[in-house]
Parts: sequence; structure tokens; C-alpha cells
Amino acid sequence: MKKIDISFTLSPEYKNQFVAIQKTEFSLSFELQNGKHRIETTPIDIGRLMYFNNSVLQAQLSFSYEFDAEHKILTVGGTGYATKDSMHLTTFPKGTVEYCHQDYLHCTIDDEGSKYNANWNYTTQMTPNLEELFIAIIKNANDTLIETIKQQEGLTIRVKTDPPKLSPEDYSNMLTVYKENKFVSMYDPNTDYGDSYSIISIESIWGGIVTFTYGENFANVIGSTPDPHIAGKSWIRLWEDQYGIATTCTSLNYNNFVCNVSSGLVGGHIILGTVAKVMPAGSDVYIMPICTAHNNNDNVYMAALQYLGGIWLKNYLN
Ligand SMILES: [Zn+2]
Repeated sequence: MKKIDISFTLSPEYKNQFVAIQKTEFSLSFELQNGKHRIETTPIDIGRLMYFNNSVLQAQLSFSYEFDAEHKILTVGGTGYATKDSMHLTTFPKGTVEYCHQDYLHCTIDDEGSKYNANWNYTTQMTPNLEELFIAIIKNANDTLIETIKQQEGLTIRVKTDPPKLSPEDYSNMLTVYKENKFVSMYDPNTDYGDSYSIISIESIWGGIVTFTYGENFANVIGSTPDPHIAGKSWIRLWEDQYGIATTCTSLNYNNFVCNVSSGLVGGHIILGTVAKVMPAGSDVYIMPICTAHNNNDNVYMAALQYLGGIWLKNYLN
């Protein structure tokens, strides 16, 4: 099992006549376990609430990860990607259950019928700007988490993010059409699709971004692009939106393969491993820039050499 050691900043420096908080550092060590887990640091004293019996204020960070031990894939939430699984900073007066759970956008409390705790409400005018400082703490903590896990050897790192904002034209080009859970084509605005079709938006299949280890092998998803030219051109826009213009094949001349970069690059649908496959509905696939020669050849496998970053599509329907 892999052990991860991280040092976080847990709280900012903050002081007014009501609240005093010290900048506090915290070190966390945990072993990666197979499956989905939530890590919660031990509560630490970070300051005092002078307006509330001078009570001690405590804080703890929490975040979720998912580890596929067999394939060595570690998935975490991206910085700013707010869900119940994302990085949270929970603060509370010691010995009370007046928890404030801060994510990238909001502070929520455990009493679902109320907006505020009776005695710990840092979103009020009593503590101006404190919520913004707490948000900066969790953004920084999540950046640190991602940087730390990327330094682990031999792990594929997936980071959940929001899909990019596309121009209306690009957005329309990224729509995919399915019939009975089978991929039919990319969406054509001039076609009248019947009742039995569904049109799937990029939001439904966007997982986030992925970082492969150098030299990691990957292979084509078979049948992902009935029209490789048109579809591949659309998909590479997604990759370039994230990483900038692609100028070469990710697997350039690997294993003496003769790449064809001059006829353009496509956003190839790929999977990890050395065998091209037809993927079942609901699979995870990735988009990497590859040359047309690689995209049209399902008998060779490739390697992450020129680029390590890719796009992660989840629940991909074939
Ligand atoms: Zn190539």
C-alpha cells in the first residue's frame, strides 16, 4: 500500500474584537486503500471566540478519494469543484456540535432547517472576510493534495473538474447521438432525429482531467469514432481547451511505429493497457492527441511520451 504524507495550512491568521485565529499548519499521513474513502484530519485548536465565553475554536479538513488498486488509478476532486466529496474545512467551538462545513462556495451547518448556528456564524458581519479566507485555505489544501499525489510514482491521477465553457458551435459539435445505448454519430443540427434517439451533452460524460505516468501504455477504443476525421477533430478541441494546441502525436514513433503527424492530429479515444477494445457502456475512456496513423490502427499500442495529460470521459457509451 502507498503511504501519502501531506502538510496543509489549516487556518489563516485573523483577528478582530470578537475572534482570534492563528495560522496553523497540519501534517497528515494516510495509506491509500482500495475503493472510495473519506479522509478526516483530527480536530486541532486554531483560535478563540471572545464573544462566546472565550471558547476554543477547532478545525479539521476532510476530502474523499477513490483508489483503483488493480489499475493504480487515484481519483480526487479538482480545486473549485464543489460536491459533497470535495475538500471541506469544518470549524466548530470545541465541545459543541455547531459545525460549519465550508466548501469552495458555501458554508453549511448540520441543522438543515437553519442557516446559522446559534454561536458559530462566520458568514455574518461579526467576522468580515473570514469565509473568503477559509475558502482560500481549502483551495490551497486541495492544490497541495493534487501536487502531492502527482509526485507518487506509478499512479495515474484523475482530477474531477467542471467541463470547459465551449463556444455554441463547439458545444454543438460535441453532442453525441445514441440509439438504445449505442453510439450512432456526432450530432448534426440539420438531421431530424426520431423519438428513439437520445442526444448526450458533454456534461453527461465529462469526468475531468487525467495525468498518466511517463511511458504508460494505452490503446485505442475500438468503434469510438465511426467517422474518425470529423469526430476526432471535435474531440481534440476538448483536449486543446485544457492543455493548449497539440503539435505532435502523444506516442510519437513509439516501438518504431511510423506516425503520420502531417495529416493532422485527432483526439483519440483510448484506454490504459496494450490491447485495443470495444468498451462496454458506462466505461471510463480518455482523450489524447494522436496521429491519424495511430488512430486508424487497432493492432498497435501506444505510450504516453510527448504528453502526459489527457481528458477523462466517464460513463462513456459505446
Ligand atoms: Zn502517432
